[in-house]
Amino acid sequence: MEAGTVGGIVGGTVRRNTGRHGDSRLITDLMGLLGVAHVLVDPDLTAGYETDWTGAFTGRATAVARPGSTDEVAAVLRICAAHGVPVVPQGGNTGLVGGSVPAGAAIGAVVLSLRRLTAIEPVDAAAGLVTAGAGATLADVQAHARAAGLDSGVDLAARDSATLGGIAATNAGGERVLRHGMTRGQVAGLEAVLADGRVVRRLTGLPKDNVGYDLPALFVGSEGTLGVITRVQLRLVGLPSARTTALIALADITSAVELLARLRTAAGSLDAVELMFDDGIDLVRAHQGLPSPFPDRPADRSRPSGAHNTPYLLVECAGRTDPSDELAAVVETATGVLDVAVATTPTEQARLWAYREGHTAAVNALGVPVKLDVAVPLSRITAFIDGLRELVPAVARPARLHLWGHLAEANLHVNVTGLDRDDSRGREKLTDVILTRVAADGGGIGAEHGVGRAKMAWAGLSRSPAELAVIAAVKHALDPACLLNPGVLVPPYGIALTPGPPVPPA
Ligand SMILES: Cc1cc2nc3c(=O)[nH]c(=O)nc-3n(C[C@H](O)[C@H](O)[C@H](O)COP(=O)(O)OP(=O)(O)OC[C@H]3O[C@@H](n4cnc5c(N)ncnc54)[C@H](O)[C@@H]3O)c2cc1C
Repeated sequence: MEAGTVGGIVGGTVRRNTGRHGDSRLITDLMGLLGVAHVLVDPDLTAGYETDWTGAFTGRATAVARPGSTDEVAAVLRICAAHGVPVVPQGGNTGLVGGSVPAGAAIGAVVLSLRRLTAIEPVDAAAGLVTAGAGATLADVQAHARAAGLDSGVDLAARDSATLGGIAATNAGGERVLRHGMTRGQVAGLEAVLADGRVVRRLTGLPKDNVGYDLPALFVGSEGTLGVITRVQLRLVGLPSARTTALIALADITSAVELLARLRTAAGSLDAVELMFDDGIDLVRAHQGLPSPFPDRPADRSRPSGAHNTPYLLVECAGRTDPSDELAAVVETATGVLDVAVATTPTEQARLWAYREGHTAAVNALGVPVKLDVAVPLSRITAFIDGLRELVPAVARPARLHLWGHLAEANLHVNVTGLDRDDSRGREKLTDVILTRVAADGGGIGAEHGVGRAKMAWAGLSRSPAELAVIAAVKHALDPACLLNPGVLVPPYGIALTPGPPVPPA
């Protein structure tokens, strides 16, 4: 499948700024606005903003602009629009689909870093809300909310670096979706700056406020293509005072899905159900130097040597009272349970969570993975996983498949290492085969990480031509010159410097 043809919009050229031609006036204008300290052009300083977390996407930026207020963000966008230079919004740069860096169609863009917008307003406990700058990290917002006796319903392993703006822009999922839903459900309002510098703001915090289209919801999940989010108003949830965590080894995936069903029906305090496998735990242990979660590994007892595919569920229950008995009652009567490790103190719980949260970094340490994030119906998940274990080595050799994810949402992170970083043909072929299989199984090709640059060419597997045309029309209405994150989510069609309208959807 050829990138740039999905969605029915082809043709046109986004200005590919080489970092030389006519940039000095742009940089002078930006420096006049933000000051020299907040417009980075030295390659040593811009490098960290130009390559994504996985190392798969990289490109030169004309400059990195670091505005300190919404007004400055608006002025940066007006300057870039006047110069016809694309803009790539960036938060913590922890995104995993290449959307936060000036690669592909956005080479030569200005990276607009939101990391200076860190103000967090006081918690409104009565309304259950907090409003924060787009650059505030999730961890800082969580600490702020917890100090006020409430909590964020959004949580993910990248919490120390991922920003509220990035989390909203990607409609992030994470570990508590089972209980609280995706980020879209947590965002009560937001402020965003459009490509032409106009500011749209809906921060009333009123849960019942029905006047037309839900604009905050439109920006959530827009991956920096419709506007630059500058403030986010987050709904808060109750802060549990007791947690119990269990790492459970199971005979097979069918047993894991059955356990999930029993937990849903019998454990009202259920907070998280995460999936991983033997080989992933081994990888994290080697990467972080961790001991075995069990003194006597169940896989060693139940599987032939080398067949490292025992599934594990990391289950957490949380509430105002100790949920241990509730969790134990379900696990004790479940079938296929091979072993259980239980943690009730924060230190022990962090130890168990490290096996799950360490997967992304441990896999990246092996080399730049082919990184996919998919969802398949739970009724198909066993067949899908078995199929992948055969498919991947058949298509790519040498290749190593790594699987983990959020079982409650049937969300699997499918990573393959062993392919050369520059083998774009091989990586595309493998991606194509896997995502085609996902679609054939009735799944979604983008579960929680977004589409970004990595999966744009495959969006048509999960959205109809009519849906893609609507997405492209919305993009065109808000950003007619395609200056915001060209090449992310929708094919680049904007003509920043060349007159004439973009080619309409087919
Ligand atoms: C170890 C690890 C674990 C992770 N776990 C999860 C997980 O469980 N669930 C999950 O969903 N994701 C996960 N992620 C992915 C990532 O953390 C999320 O996508 C996160 O929401 C990105 O936030 P960020 O601030 O780093 O955004 P960035 O990476 O900077 O940007 C991501 C996208 O959002 C856009 N963007 C950023 N800020 C703004 C803004 N203010 N306005 C408009 N657009 C903006 C960018 O242009 C880009 O397209 C994980 C990543 C890592 C490294």
